[in-house]
Amino acid sequence: MATVVDELIRRVYEQVLPLRAGAPADYIPELAKVDPDGFGICLATADGHVYEVGDTRVPFTIQSISKPFTYALALTDRGEHAVADKIDVEPSGEPFNEISLDPGTERPRNPMINAGAITATSLVAGDGRDARFERIRAAYSAYAGRELHVDDAVYRSESESGYRNRAIGYMLRSFGIVTGDPEDAVDLYFRQCSLSVTCHDLAVMTATLANNGVNALTRERVLPTELVERVLSVMATCGMYDAAGAWVAEVGLPAKSGVGGGVVAVLPGQLGIAVYSPRLDAHGNSVRGVEVCRALSRELELHFLHVTRAARSAIRARYPIAQSPSRMRRTRAERDLLDQLSDHGVIYELHGDLQFTGAEATVREIARGEARLEAVVIDVREIDEVSDVAATMLSSVRGELVALDCGVALVDPRGRLGHTQSSLEGPGGRVFHDLDAAIEWCEDLLLARHWSGTRPPGSIRLDQHPLLQRLTPEQRDVALTLVEHVEFERDDVLVHRGEPTAGLFLLLEGRVSSLVTDNADGRVRRVSTLSAGMTFGEIPLLLDTVALSSFVATTAGRAARLPASVYADLSARDPSLELGLVKGIAAGAYEQLDTMLRSLAHVPGGR
Ligand code: GLN
Repeated sequence: MATVVDELIRRVYEQVLPLRAGAPADYIPELAKVDPDGFGICLATADGHVYEVGDTRVPFTIQSISKPFTYALALTDRGEHAVADKIDVEPSGEPFNEISLDPGTERPRNPMINAGAITATSLVAGDGRDARFERIRAAYSAYAGRELHVDDAVYRSESESGYRNRAIGYMLRSFGIVTGDPEDAVDLYFRQCSLSVTCHDLAVMTATLANNGVNALTRERVLPTELVERVLSVMATCGMYDAAGAWVAEVGLPAKSGVGGGVVAVLPGQLGIAVYSPRLDAHGNSVRGVEVCRALSRELELHFLHVTRAARSAIRARYPIAQSPSRMRRTRAERDLLDQLSDHGVIYELHGDLQFTGAEATVREIARGEARLEAVVIDVREIDEVSDVAATMLSSVRGELVALDCGVALVDPRGRLGHTQSSLEGPGGRVFHDLDAAIEWCEDLLLARHWSGTRPPGSIRLDQHPLLQRLTPEQRDVALTLVEHVEFERDDVLVHRGEPTAGLFLLLEGRVSSLVTDNADGRVRRVSTLSAGMTFGEIPLLLDTVALSSFVATTAGRAARLPASVYADLSARDPSLELGLVKGIAAGAYEQLDTMLRSLAHVPGGR
């Protein structure tokens, strides 16, 4: 199926096809033998999909498009410093084969002109010409994702006519830039220029650069990230020789051309373009190749300085913890206190790629409220890429908040900020896998700090249970005789979903969670967690249905249970006790409803 992208590049192909200006290179006799009108375009995405139109499988020699790749090899083999001692990175404004060095540094001006390229070739490691060439050939093959070979006829032709490049080699030797036999360096250079490629190969090689050094077809890392950056920089400023300035202005993509008729261009992180058309302009750049890059850059808006939007804050939402309570069921008094503290406990949801600017905006925003903050949730679940500097900035802001005595709960289940362990207690607070647990932790922290008087105890006597407290002393005495005592262990199921309830439970100690299974994905979700003084199991009693959710102990504990059969008898036996209980249950239910409606009214990123 021809996609919209196929049609786009076909349109550019047809627009540019009529251009017949220029002529194939003939200073290397063998190169003059090509079909001057051959023409192919490939666009390869960083994830390895290649769109192609025209002569994309016709072999031709790579020529100067080899230069960035060998420069990368020299950097790999000798390191950045050693290479910088031999080759500068300044655009020369000179033709590719200029016999010159920078008069000040006495070094080749950049690795994209022949002097710099021959120097780079001389720096490739290996024992002897053949071994070193094999290293080059194998590396290019890894970039292309298939075995590449030398076109012997072009190699011989270039070697026989390559006086100018030999002159450059000997000049480099006389200045001590090339230290070995200059013939070796020049011969390797001729061979690398004569490697036979297709437009498709070049597209894959270029996409490998776009993909940060990982070949998207073979998934092999063939270049370290830092080197890719370095190579692309030099391609951006020096890739098109003396036309480099106009190229950046008009096309705005790191690029490289070769006298074999190839041109490649890279949009870092996104795509690579390769064009084949052997008619060259006066600079030695493919006439159609340049035109295709111009058209694609314009039509697909690929210019690397194209500003699509100003850097945006990484904060998706900021809201008080009180607006999005945890599923830990709190008493009315606890809720009221958390409401009063809403300026002191805040949730920040971050999203997108977190780079310097997003981290800066986040840090600035957090610092604004810093004086009042006592508990902060930083939710980074929706963050994709995090740059090192952004991670450092966020971790120092966490450290600063902690130093100001503010609890910081980081929700980072995928370890985006380098923490993988849930509940890890670090200098920045705690790390959670799940937002709800983080909110609960912050609520506990705020309650612990601000509760005046005594917190509701974790364990109560039956006669202290709020439901019984609402009864008259006489009713309470009766109730005490009707209940059974239940001790439970963690993970005990006290109410089974779908079954008739075992009765009305008055929780006296420990924690019990209400759980439902999501029909869509089969996952068990927590509806709420209850603690001492709360009641459960009442809904099926009142509605005369089966239990709608399970109640499972999350800690060991105690409860009192009014059995379902006893409750059923109450209306005949003691209607006033029944009414007292129902009133108490209704009051609790309305309190919960209020809390739930409040968190529904505020649906932040959707929980
Ligand atoms: N082999 C060619 C030379 O050095 C490569 C030049 C180029 O492609 N611009 O003459």
